[in-house]
Amino acid sequence: MKRLRSTISGQVFPFERIEEFAGNGESLEVAADGLAGARVRQGRRLWERFADFLPVVIDDEISLGEGSTPLLPAGKALSTFTGIARLLLKNETMNPTWSFKDRGSLTSIAMARQMGEPVTATISTGNMGHSMAAYGARAGIRAVVFVPRYAPAEKIRAMAIHGATVVRVTAPDYSMMKREILGLASGLNLRVVSGNGPIRAEGYKLAAFEMYEQLEGHVPDFIAVPTSACGHIRGLFKGYRELMEAGLTGRLPRMIVVQAANVNPLVSAIREGRDRIVPVTGKETVAEAITSGDPPGGAEILLKARHFGWLAEDVTEEEILDAQRRLAGAGYFVEPAAATSLAAVGKLRAAGKIRQDDSVVLMLTGSGLKDMSVFARQGVEVVESDLRSIRGDVEKILASSPPGGVY
Ligand SMILES: *Cc1c(COP(=O)(O)O)cnc(C)c1O
Repeated sequence: MKRLRSTISGQVFPFERIEEFAGNGESLEVAADGLAGARVRQGRRLWERFADFLPVVIDDEISLGEGSTPLLPAGKALSTFTGIARLLLKNETMNPTWSFKDRGSLTSIAMARQMGEPVTATISTGNMGHSMAAYGARAGIRAVVFVPRYAPAEKIRAMAIHGATVVRVTAPDYSMMKREILGLASGLNLRVVSGNGPIRAEGYKLAAFEMYEQLEGHVPDFIAVPTSACGHIRGLFKGYRELMEAGLTGRLPRMIVVQAANVNPLVSAIREGRDRIVPVTGKETVAEAITSGDPPGGAEILLKARHFGWLAEDVTEEEILDAQRRLAGAGYFVEPAAATSLAAVGKLRAAGKIRQDDSVVLMLTGSGLKDMSVFARQGVEVVESDLRSIRGDVEKILASSPPGGVY
């Protein structure tokens, strides 16, 4: 029988529970009992091959073709920059709405369909709302998205064109807004999907399974994850734990919790050895997708970090923008939140916490085109020309060294 279990004290709840957290605030996860007999099956789709590990039924009627994203060596420039020879990039920007959120929306929408729910709600700074809007549109389930005032226009427009109802909420800070709206769920009998819900995490497991296949059963030493609500990091790790329970691997990756220095409640707690989060309020970062200053259920991450020897690192605004330029210089245009892990692993390598020959995967969580306002902070050089001076201009360009040659 499928059940939900609270992740610290192990309280058990019905699988159908609408609230995403236990009464005491702990995050919930789908209890993975009976995986001993689970195996990888034949099938063209990832969810078919790993159906034994999934609590919801997925099919082509709700899929938008998420996943199958490249996992490739980062290349010489980024390996040299970080000092990590075996640096790999998992390019989750190649999902249908250009972020990894699509994997969680797949299972969230599958759950809503299974429960016969006509409406599903979500709270998001942008990517999750955009993704839920698209998957809601695909499945014929109405999406209501609550966004904070600072959500980028690109992401709001994307939600709207998929037909979602977008509610922009004025609130003192995002975590307060989140708690308030999550609290509406049981009274309104409305599933309010947050970034750390148990069913989303089941979708993020699929990225772990996909990397397991792509690396032919090899498990990387480290996986660096820009972390905010914590759903992604715990879903990925849960995936590897379940592979181990099923006897498909003998080892687990060590996760790296990455945050912006401006909003770093998890990293500071791990660094100081605390088992409680001290909320960060009133701070902003250019990495607007990772701004949960007080992530509900986040205490679980602190315990896991200690128990499993995870690493944690935070990065400044300048380091984030620099990392975004370096990734772009290597061919990957990602949003600032996604760039944080490059800067973080470079610092961890310099501190001797990662070795030169460790295999390290960076999760490139979202596309650069999703937040154009950042260009106000990245210098953009354009050569102005006209048809009379174009020949002379091109001659000058060919005689000069390329811009951005610094890297
Ligand atoms: C949502 C998001 C994150 C953070 O993931 P969580 O599951 O909230 O921890 C990181 N990067 C991008 C681009 C995101 O959209």
